[in-house]
Amino acid sequence: MTSDNAAPVASPRWRNWGGNQHSVAADVLMPGSADEVAALVKEAAAAGRRVKAVGSGHSFTSIAVADDQRMLLHRLAGLVAVDGDLVTVQAGMPLHRLNAVLAEHGLAMPNLGDIDRQTVAGAISTGTHGSGQAYSTLASGVEAVTLVTGSGEVLHVDSSSELFPAARLGLGALGVLVEVTLRCVPAFVLLADERPMPLREVLAGLDEQIATNDHLEFYWYPYTDRAQLKRNNKVPASDRPLSPFRSWLDEEFLSNTVFQGACKLGQKLPAIVPTVSAVAARALTARTYTDRSDRVFCTSRRVHFVEMEYEIPRECLSEALSALPRIIEKLPFKVQFPVEVRFTGPDDIWLSHGYGRDSAYIAVHQFSGSPYEPYFQAFETVCEPLGGRPHWGKLHYRNADSLRRAYPRFDDFVAVRDRLDPNRVFANPYLDRVLGA
Ligand SMILES: Cc1cc2nc3c(=O)[nH]c(=O)nc-3n(C[C@H](O)[C@H](O)[C@H](O)COP(=O)(O)OP(=O)(O)OC[C@H]3O[C@@H](n4cnc5c(N)ncnc54)[C@H](O)[C@@H]3O)c2cc1C
Repeated sequence: MTSDNAAPVASPRWRNWGGNQHSVAADVLMPGSADEVAALVKEAAAAGRRVKAVGSGHSFTSIAVADDQRMLLHRLAGLVAVDGDLVTVQAGMPLHRLNAVLAEHGLAMPNLGDIDRQTVAGAISTGTHGSGQAYSTLASGVEAVTLVTGSGEVLHVDSSSELFPAARLGLGALGVLVEVTLRCVPAFVLLADERPMPLREVLAGLDEQIATNDHLEFYWYPYTDRAQLKRNNKVPASDRPLSPFRSWLDEEFLSNTVFQGACKLGQKLPAIVPTVSAVAARALTARTYTDRSDRVFCTSRRVHFVEMEYEIPRECLSEALSALPRIIEKLPFKVQFPVEVRFTGPDDIWLSHGYGRDSAYIAVHQFSGSPYEPYFQAFETVCEPLGGRPHWGKLHYRNADSLRRAYPRFDDFVAVRDRLDPNRVFANPYLDRVLGA
């Protein structure tokens, strides 16, 4: 699996983008219509078998691991309808294709995460998000979904249905999504402003920065007191795109090729990692440019890693962040990736990380193949007591009992699951762990 969405293959063998999850499916199903999905689910239910819909495999958790039949949705990836700013697509459409289709219609997604390789269904189902006080998860822009339930029934769910707060972000536990209607916005241009700064300066002005920028995030470089602040703001026109050379230098060469080399070197010679981190933090230069919104939000990630990301109540950010240097200093290995911090506003989706509160997200990463568990586990012990909610698609160690305490509407979600998938056709070991069997 590459970050470039290689065409899905019918091979029973599968691994995720991070390379940390593997499965061998008994069968690979590739339906070409909602009716075919329904027929396959009915067959599976009658035979007491399981079906797992899989997107682009960009989750780090085992949420997309099929332990029986794997269903690929790449034949259900087209545009269905554009009605003003409401756009309906088939659920297997990758986000990069969605962005291109929206641009053709003078539209855009209001916000996006760091990459565009995920499918629409996969992205909304795990709570994929970007940054920005006026925004929440991508699922919060979902106006309706059509899904095939565990009995093979095709169900349309919109805001008039009591299933709506569950179905928009369903972890793949409620059914196979076949169509998704998204509320989009007129196409827009972003001015990106990225600059290295001392971490304490970033933190000192944070509340004001969050309030006065459309999309704000920062990276902290472990073993240093340096950060990189990224601000993206809507502007009237695109007059300053990056030159093709600068774009290649920053995105391809420095962020991917050089970074990959540094990570490989750091794996062999861990003692140099703090120096490399300090050099990287100092080598960052400020840059500003404008471009189409999705081209600013999303970059290519060719250096493979594993990740944990915790949502915490915004007011707990400094407590969680200040614990990280102490955790990192005690680890028996070095941390090679910067820590990413983002901010979103509240939504009302039952299993959304941002349900009912202003959020800060802290993401910790480690180069694929390097040890990470003590790092991630230690960070979880900081975030869990703060009321933290782990990203459903990123590594964590929580189970249903502890997640129930973090989500006020957890049991309501489970009741919807009992109704739509009573025989657990869509279950897998991950869902058994986080939702209960
Ligand atoms: C390099 C990288 C960068 C990332 N950046 C971000 C980021 O900026 N912000 C963020 O929040 N996350 C980010 N993620 C996480 C990623 O967005 C999520 O894990 C997302 O779920 C991946 O989508 P996918 O299509 O690969 O789905 P998969 O990982 O394949 O599946 C995820 C879930 O969706 C379900 N699913 C898939 N298709 C269907 C369907 N048709 N019907 C029902 N359920 C379905 C699966 O069963 C599974 O439960 C990143 C991941 C990577 C690898």
